[in-house]
Amino acid sequence: MSRKIETILEVIAEIRELRSTTMHDSPFADIRRQAVRSIAARHKRAVATIQNNWLRGLKPEISGTAEFDTLVEAYLSGVSNHIREILLQFAQDKSDRQKIEKELPEFEKASPPNGMHLSQNSSLAAGNGSSHQQTAEPPVRAAGERTPHPAPKAFDLRIRERKIRKLCTTYRVLRETDQALRVRRFHGDRCQICGSTINLADGSTYAETHHLRPLGAPHHGEDISENIICLCPNHHAMLDLGLHRLKAEELRTADGHKIAQEFIDYHNHAICQQAETVSAGA
Ligand SMILES: [Zn+2]
Repeated sequence: MSRKIETILEVIAEIRELRSTTMHDSPFADIRRQAVRSIAARHKRAVATIQNNWLRGLKPEISGTAEFDTLVEAYLSGVSNHIREILLQFAQDKSDRQKIEKELPEFEKASPPNGMHLSQNSSLAAGNGSSHQQTAEPPVRAAGERTPHPAPKAFDLRIRERKIRKLCTTYRVLRETDQALRVRRFHGDRCQICGSTINLADGSTYAETHHLRPLGAPHHGEDISENIICLCPNHHAMLDLGLHRLKAEELRTADGHKIAQEFIDYHNHAICQQAETVSAGA
């Protein structure tokens, strides 16, 4: 197995262990720092050597510690398999892949909606104190206890996109491909649902785009204009979360851009239905 994969898996395993035992109330970054220190001490290597093997090895997919922390925390909290998918791309041979699959088993995407606490509650996955769990357990709730409303998760969260991945407070993955930019231009940055745009101080406008059938696993949508809709941030969030069903005849149109019905259907049936199923089971 490659040294890089070995080190990264060791860092994640150490974080998982610390989170479920001694550091369950600590900020995630502190846990990760301690994990790296522990591993360095165990192997009698310098912290810098561990850092080199680990972080440099993840570029350009993961740009730095903040992004690493977000992805690992999301994985350990049962929210996103994204880190696993990224590591699998770095696997150099079969033994790397097997090790990643064993150490970081894939969990079902439709995890409980109250699994999304990320930075507010780093100890989420550590709830029952067992240190060798491979996947996160949902937090235990006393009978009749109401859980606070966490930030719900976007259904395309695990999509990996190399070009633009912004770390936002809501942990949404923003992507803008050339096709998406074209769609924005066709619509003059006006939301195809409500017609609004955001005017920036420099005189330019801002809008977001959304792939109705999301890119990447498990949806495998295409990056073509027929699959892209131009939206204001509010409507983008609603579509990401599966809260707004679309009707072709209600969407604003623009010359040069036509959304294909099959992708509207996909959004309504796959994304919205999944969201409704998860809500119903909450
Ligand atoms: Zn809108």
